[in-house]
This record gives sequence, structure tokens and C-alpha cells, in this order.
Amino acid sequence: MISAGIVTVSYIAATILFILALGGLSNQETARRGNWYGISGMTLALLATVFGVVTNNYVELMAALVVGGSIGLLLAKRVQMTEMPELVAILHSLVGLAAVMVGYANFMDASVHFTGVDLTIHDIETYLGILIGAVTFSGSVIAFGKLSGRIGGKPLTLPGRHLFNLGLLIAAIWFGREFVIQSAAGGGLTPLMIMTGIALIFGIHMVMAIGGADMPVVISMLNSYSGWAASATGFMLNNDLLIVTGALVGSSGAILSYIMCRAMNRKFLSVIAGGFGTAGGTTVSSESGEEQGEVVAIGADETAELLLNAKEVMIIPGYGMAVAQAQHIVFEITSSLRAKGVNVRFGIHPVAGRMPGHMNVLLAEAKVPYDIVYEMDEINEDFPDVDVSVVIGANDIVNPSALDEPNSPIAGMPVLECWKGRTSIVLKRSMATGYAGVQNPLFFKENTRMLFGDAKETLEAVYKAL
Ligand code: NDP
Repeated sequence: MISAGIVTVSYIAATILFILALGGLSNQETARRGNWYGISGMTLALLATVFGVVTNNYVELMAALVVGGSIGLLLAKRVQMTEMPELVAILHSLVGLAAVMVGYANFMDASVHFTGVDLTIHDIETYLGILIGAVTFSGSVIAFGKLSGRIGGKPLTLPGRHLFNLGLLIAAIWFGREFVIQSAAGGGLTPLMIMTGIALIFGIHMVMAIGGADMPVVISMLNSYSGWAASATGFMLNNDLLIVTGALVGSSGAILSYIMCRAMNRKFLSVIAGGFGTAGGTTVSSESGEEQGEVVAIGADETAELLLNAKEVMIIPGYGMAVAQAQHIVFEITSSLRAKGVNVRFGIHPVAGRMPGHMNVLLAEAKVPYDIVYEMDEINEDFPDVDVSVVIGANDIVNPSALDEPNSPIAGMPVLECWKGRTSIVLKRSMATGYAGVQNPLFFKENTRMLFGDAKETLEAVYKAL
């Protein structure tokens, strides 16, 4: 058992390390260092808590740490890069579940005594922690289902869904009042359990109502919720580090949600209220692939020739590059073209792939230099000067209908306007739609060529031809 003073100092040090971690993660060059700050902060926090705050039940605690740690290690080692978003979603659900369980445990703990105003404040902290935790838990489980394809991406639109949500909110507030009143008289479990049920239903409904293309906002929002749940639990347990850490996760998740909304030209509230992407019109299932004209296919040799004759090449990676694990061969092709004097740049859409920063992580893994990787806003105006755009397993993020089809589920979302360049080469396996389930008129444009096949295999053939 270490002294309370050392625990406080360790908590302050851990807080500083977490802030440095977030600072580091905001830039690709410093992201690795940021991760190490985070790992060090969490190790310090765990050690200080285990040896300074916990007073008994060490055996159970160690057993839980070993079991939980081993499962986490195994999952993280096994997970494919393409499954990362699902892993993140399921981890968020565990944060929510932990907040619910700690809330109940604390409420039922006979050794926790409060009276008067202190009791009311403590009850509100408990209630809020469980409420946000339960919404995070069920919402993240549904997000996991949607991201892994176990649940369809189509938004669920119940009739009168806004009224339904409002009803749930009013009920949660009413049961909160009941909980505080009953808790003062020594009860309160029933309203707490009813609210937990309401919160679970709200979480499910909220994420089910969100259309495929708006999922990035939901992921970052659930990330934010998991932080606020932890923060409320920190207030309940009187644990400063948990309050601060939760607030850091909560606020950075909220900022990320804002960035995602801006990137997709959506209003945060309309996404959360759900039902986006239901306007009908152009949604087609991935199998049907509504015909819009002729597509022109191209081979690997011809692609290599176009690339060699180009001065300006823009590579646009999407989810399919992650599926094919094509980032390494993309790097080889990039190096080879640059050595021949071709200016190669990368255009990254903020929602490309299946999690924020997905493409940047893959490109960094393949050692693509950071200074040729550009955000959409930085390069979208350059397309008229681009000779060849290579769209690698991307679909929704290069869909012109987002700009000219007001009824499209992705209407209003800014996209990479590669069709304004001389030629676009699209690498994909079929005419299937992307995540949002919308057909893409880009494929039928006169200056588009389709290079069909698995991205890694076709790019290897292109590299050989180069
Ligand atoms: P899309 O899902 O729109 O398109 C990916 C394309 O890749 C598919 O059309 C598919 O076509 C192709 N593909 C799949 N596997 C391969 C392969 N092995 N080789 C070649 N091509 C392949 O991805 P985008 O990146 O363009 O857009 C991201 C979408 O995901 C957006 O709608 C976004 O809103 C959503 N989203 C993003 C999140 C984020 O945080 N970034 C989170 C959740 C959702 P085919 O089957 O014919 O090969």
C-alpha cells in the first residue's frame, strides 16, 4: 500500500501524460510518441490505483486483471486492420458496461454512506453514470453489428421516432427524480433498473436509425459518450483521475464528431436524431448495381503506361485498399513513379475507410512519406491539373452524386472530385456499391477507366508492368 500523497502525484503525472498523448496523436509525425505517452500514463494510473487505492480483494483483482488483460492482448494481436473499427466499437461498449456495473456496485455497497445534499449529488452522479454507460453500451454493440456487416447499414425509421426518443428522454428524467426521492428513503433500485432499460433501448434505437454513410459521426460520438460515462463514474467514486481522463476522452470525441460532421456537411443534431440517408431515390442494393451506361475497363499494362506518361498522379485510397492490404504495393508504385520524375500525391477523404484516420494509418504503416499525403480540403481544387487519379477501393468518397443528386443518401457530403482531372482509374472487384449503398456515376464517366480485380493483385501487375 503506497501513501495517498504518492497516489495524488501519480494521478497528476498520469493526467499530464494523457494530455501529451492527445497532443501527440494530433499529428502523424508525433503519433507514435503520443501512443507511448498514453501507455505510460495508463500503466502509472493502474499501478497507483492497485497499490494506493484498493485496500482488499487483491486476489480477485489480480485474477480479473490477468483474464481481462489476456483477452485484450489476444484480441488486439489477432485483429485484422480491416476489423479495427469493429474492435474500437466493441471496446467502447465495454467502457459503457463497466460504467453501468460500477454504478450498480457502488449503489448497492452498504459501506457507502451519504446524507442530505451529499446523498442527492451522489445519487445524480450514479444515475448519470449508469444512464450514459447504458446508452454507450447498447449503441456500441449495434455499431459493432453494423460495422461488421451483421446488421444492415440501412437506417431504421420507426413512425414517430422523434416522439419516441422524446418520450424516452422524459421517462428517464422522471425516473431520475423517483430514484433520488426513493434513494433518500433507503430504496431506489426499481427506478434505476427501469431507467437502465430505457437507456439501453435509446442506445439501440439511436444507432439503428443512422444511415450507413453517417456511421463515422456515430463512432466518434460513442467514443465521446464512453468518456463522459467514465467521467460521471469518476465523480461517483470521487476519483480525480477518472474524472479528468473521462473528460479528455469525452471532449476529444466530441471534437472528432464535430470534425466528422463538418467533413460530411451534416448537422450533428440531425445525425443523432437519425433517419439520415432515407430520402430514397438513388439507393440501390450492392447486388443490383442499377445500370447507368457503359463502363470502360482497362488492363494493368495500359494503366502502367498512363502512369508513366503522367506528370501529376493523385492516389485516392478507400476502404478496399484496407481490405486488399494493398498499401505496401501502393508504396512501391509510388516510389517507382517518383524515381521517374512523376509527381505523386495522395488525397485523403476524412471518412475514407471505416474509422477516422484509417487511410493515414495504413499509409504510415507502408512508410509513404507524410509530406505527399494531403487532406481533401488541401487538394480538391488541384484535380483539373491531375493527369491520372488512381482510386483504390474507394467508392462513396468519390461519388459525384453527393454533389448533384439532392435525393441521394450522401447528398451534401463533400467528395474528392477526381472526374475533373484528365483520367480516373478505379480499382475495385465488381460494380458493387460502397458502404452507403449508392450507385456511383463516376464509373460511367467518359474519362473513367475501371481496373477490375483485387486491388493488391492488380497493383502488383501494374508494378510489374512499370
Ligand atoms: P466504400 O465502402 O464506399 O467503398 C469501398 C469499395 O472498395 C467498394 O465499393 C468495394 O467494391 C471496394 N473493395 C472492397 N474490397 C476490395 C478489394 N479487395 N480490392 C479492390 N476493391 C475492393 O469506401 P470509401 O472509403 O470510399 O468510403 C467510406 C464509407 O464508409 C463512407 O460511406 C463512410 O461514411 C463510411 N464509414 C466511414 C467510417 C470512418 O470513420 N471513416 C466509419 C463507418 C462508415 P467491390 O466490392 O466491387 O470490390
